[in-house]
Amino acid sequence: MVKKGILLVLSGPSGAGKGTVCQALIQDNSSIHLSISVTTRAPRPGEQHGKNYFFISREEFEQMVAQDQLLEWAKVYDNYYGTPRRWVEEKLVQGEDVLLEIDIQGALQIKKKYPDCILVFIVPPSINELQARLISRGTDCDDVIKRRLSCVEGELQEIPKYDFIVVNDKLEEAVNEVKAIITAEKCRPKYFDLQKYLQWGGLS
Ligand code: ADP
Ligand code: 5GP
Repeated sequence: MVKKGILLVLSGPSGAGKGTVCQALIQDNSSIHLSISVTTRAPRPGEQHGKNYFFISREEFEQMVAQDQLLEWAKVYDNYYGTPRRWVEEKLVQGEDVLLEIDIQGALQIKKKYPDCILVFIVPPSINELQARLISRGTDCDDVIKRRLSCVEGELQEIPKYDFIVVNDKLEEAVNEVKAIITAEKCRPKYFDLQKYLQWGGLS
């Protein structure tokens, strides 16, 4: 068996439910590992360093960029976010599956570096529901919510660059769709030791 990990990237508008879908996925599927990003954003109440993000200063972030320690990085809503390179590369080499929950700019950088990655765009069922989710999440002030909603139109333009769309209406259905994408991806010939089948030959 060829041991290759898959790199699954989830993006979508803020409030679409990416974080919720990721948490459900890693709870149900212990064989996929969620990468923890670095960010210059301030922690929200309840967020923990090393669990939700590695919260670092702008200087530390710039140093990581200069030392090529980030697989991708982007400025998103006035803060910097990036994916630590070493952890992801080590997992993939070990044949482990990796999940990234990152913005569209970052996802497209990853696609260039790893054309085999799978880009999944999570959309909410409607723009009104998106707004309602951002409000009910209660983590961002009105200005921040407005700023995030103002980006949605532009973000949706990028959907054609993605491999799959998952509508996060009913959470369980959305999670099942992402699981189905993983299952289908793993059925591709590149994840099999084809030599084994070529050696079988005919029975006659
Ligand atoms: P994102 O990570 O995309 O910014 P979150 O995962 O934080 O979004 O979800 C935003 C809010 O919407 C949260 O309060 C979350 O509990 C809620 N939410 C996520 N998915 C659903 C869903 N399928 N139905 C209803 N509420 C949801
Ligand atoms: P939040 O501030 O709500 O946690 O995240 C804001 C946005 O940053 C979300 O779209 C999230 O997917 C994105 N993001 C989180 N981590 C990363 C990362 O490592 N790289 C990039 N490019 N975006 C990220």
